[in-house]
Amino acid sequence: MLKSDAAPNGAAGFPVCVSKMKLSPAVTALKPSATIAAAAKAKALKSQGVTVYDFTLGEPDFNTPEHIQNAAIEAMRAGHTHYTPSGGTLELKKAICAAYQRDYQIKYEPNQVVVSNGAKHSIHNVLTALCGPGDEVIIPAPYWVSYAALVELAGATPVIVETSEASGWRLTGPQFAAAVTPKTRMLLLNSPCNPTGATYSTDQLQALADVAAKHDLLVCSDEIYERLLYTDEPFRCFATLPGMYERTIIISGVSKAYAMTGWRIGWTLATPFITAAMDNLQSQETSNPCSVSQYAAAAALTGSQECVEAMRREFAKRRQYTLERVAALPGVNMPAPGGAFYAFFNISSYFGKPLGAKRQVVQTATDFCTALLEDAHVALVSGDAFGAPGYVRLSFATSIDTLKSGFDRIQSFLGGSV
Ligand code: PMP
Ligand code: GLU
Repeated sequence: MLKSDAAPNGAAGFPVCVSKMKLSPAVTALKPSATIAAAAKAKALKSQGVTVYDFTLGEPDFNTPEHIQNAAIEAMRAGHTHYTPSGGTLELKKAICAAYQRDYQIKYEPNQVVVSNGAKHSIHNVLTALCGPGDEVIIPAPYWVSYAALVELAGATPVIVETSEASGWRLTGPQFAAAVTPKTRMLLLNSPCNPTGATYSTDQLQALADVAAKHDLLVCSDEIYERLLYTDEPFRCFATLPGMYERTIIISGVSKAYAMTGWRIGWTLATPFITAAMDNLQSQETSNPCSVSQYAAAAALTGSQECVEAMRREFAKRRQYTLERVAALPGVNMPAPGGAFYAFFNISSYFGKPLGAKRQVVQTATDFCTALLEDAHVALVSGDAFGAPGYVRLSFATSIDTLKSGFDRIQSFLGGSV
């Protein structure tokens, strides 16, 4: 039966087949990505001609370095515009293996790599290939907005373990052990962490590795921010810890380190058994990642790494400025983020107080972000989406000038003088 007037499950004016136009249970339960939704809200306001100070999306504001762009252009001209092997070109897989050998002295072979359409897709592949109904995946909170949703999409159950600001937002071995049940399959770890910027030392990672070994668990280690560190201790790839190689699935990609978010290239490194399963899955779902982007990613990995360091140094300056401005906000404290490009701070001391020119009173971080956007035209992401009520996330992957104007506005919204 077709109905053309406003129907409950169709957009107004669109005809819907009432009996069959139902979404699947998995998609019905799915919430939109909160980071992308917050960015869309900021963009909608910008499209009305309003100047918005947008600190929502975690993506470098730099353009992709020129030598990487050139590699893509050359690839197109050379006719590399066709399907590639489903898990990526051999050339890119070799470049990824060589980069891990160079950076972490760890040996991977091309049959341990699956290249996907961004690291988000890689995480989806891992969870879909390895987890299903009845399986539990342990996720330390605060967590990146897509983790729990992707676990649920795979039919598995996210088990959220709270960490505290006082302990630097790190999961400890005893906390991890206490969350393990006979159904636990995997720990989904993210260091440096989005949204907190928390990084783990080797000893802290080892404590988690000991629990994984004791309970025979997998560890999916999302290392997408591995090159964006502001601490003295070098990055430790989880798979390099003693006994962890076989049970670790590494997630990373070019999005953050090389300012290549739009190219959509991420990867997994795992045992050949797991890799073959993910390759199989990807061959049915998407065929292969974009051919031209793969040539660009290979150039990124094999070319000079100076561009990565130049961008990291710039992020370090912005982080320093951000730390100073957050410290100057009355009633707000924040542990310094050791990596990534986010400031994550508690604004709950402002709940119940009149804020901004409109004297709005809010009780949640989500309402705080809405009021801040409407009143001061500053866009942040609510901590509610990261499993951390009372907090907000500010991406400092933007110019110091924008940060300055944004913080001035946040400060006056909170009632302080600038
Ligand atoms: N993991 C984390 C922790 C992230 O913040 C992001 C966001 N970019 C991703 C994975 C996904 O990266 P990509 O853009 O390559 O899909
Ligand atoms: N990962 C980035 C962020 O957290 C990009 C948006 C997304 O993929 O969710 O803002």
